[in-house]
Amino acid sequence: MAKMAARHLANGLAMALLLALCAGLVYVTVLISSESFGDDQRVKRSLLADNEYLFKNGLLHRVHWTKTTPSTLNSATSEVSENGNLPNPSRFDKKSPLEYIFISVKTATKFHLNRLQVIIDTWFNLAPDQIWFFSDSDDPSVVKKTNGHLVNTKCSSSHNRSALCCKMAAEIMAFLATDNRWFCHFDDDNYVNVPALVKNLEHFDHTSEWYLGKPSIPSPLEVMSKKEKKKVSFWFATGGAGFCLSRPLVKRMAPMVENGEFVATGETIRLPDDVTVGYIIEHKLGVPLTVVRSFHSHLEPLRLIAESSMSDQISFGYAAPSSLQQSNHIALPSSSQISELEDPTRFMSLHCYLFPGSLKMCPKH
Ligand code: UDP
Ligand code: MN
Repeated sequence: MAKMAARHLANGLAMALLLALCAGLVYVTVLISSESFGDDQRVKRSLLADNEYLFKNGLLHRVHWTKTTPSTLNSATSEVSENGNLPNPSRFDKKSPLEYIFISVKTATKFHLNRLQVIIDTWFNLAPDQIWFFSDSDDPSVVKKTNGHLVNTKCSSSHNRSALCCKMAAEIMAFLATDNRWFCHFDDDNYVNVPALVKNLEHFDHTSEWYLGKPSIPSPLEVMSKKEKKKVSFWFATGGAGFCLSRPLVKRMAPMVENGEFVATGETIRLPDDVTVGYIIEHKLGVPLTVVRSFHSHLEPLRLIAESSMSDQISFGYAAPSSLQQSNHIALPSSSQISELEDPTRFMSLHCYLFPGSLKMCPKH
């Protein structure tokens, strides 16, 4: 009898667990689908409609867009104001969601003329007040082109682990010196679709601890912790795809980042800066990585990103052809493409695709 009751209880528990799992699955699915805004209509909606859409929802992207989009949008905006349709100007006192995001880009002097220029010509213009470049020299021409948004980290200009960790620590500490809610790191071979980044982050409560990004390995990384004398395993978000951290989490990380602590940890585990971030957050602080699939690095086959979903993706990568492999870049319809010679990364073509007419060289339709 007691055995039967125990079996019933076990069955009941198994059922409850299954239901909980299903509920969890539904929740995750909902989160992912709402996060990706995946309808084709959304893709086809013009930039102006997009602007109105966000505006109707009480968000102040309008302020941002008018600064950064083609003249058609500016004239449309002034039409609205002439019609007297603008709501109470006090609404403009609020910050737009974008203004709460600190976007840092890791770069190096040797990339200022090529990689950085592509960013400055394209997605930097979507959020010039929020984007900061972290490099290893003072370069007056970059300072000028970015309105002073170049930080000389004074870290070494080489590609070794401690130089890269030194830059990551500088990025994190610079964020803490602001009052922004989100810290988002990217590499200089990324294209960042800023509106998609903003929309994605709005799904997460900035007052909680969040580690958002995408791993590029199929299972957690295992390292031997000498101090703890045991194997520890953890996930990390690929730095080359970008990742975002909420302020409460970064605040708790601070003692492990400042005063050379981050570099020291990187040296202890002998792994790169993005892995060190994962080690500190998942292992030391116990905050799990939340996978956001719309971050993309050149470690994945970029041509597989569907054209219809481009506007929902947060970041894209690029890898130049080498003796080992062909170039890795996104695929766009040929009508949207600027020639490969002028646009090997496809970032200019992508910018034109997402923001038609935003560059002089955009193909005319
Ligand atoms: N980087 C750097 N110093 C270097 C080489 C690279 O700061 O000496 C930065 C580079 O600007 C980029 C990131 O590190 O943001 C990754 O470099 P890269 O894309 O060249 O290499 P990957 O690790 O992706 O193969
Ligand atoms: Mn890279």
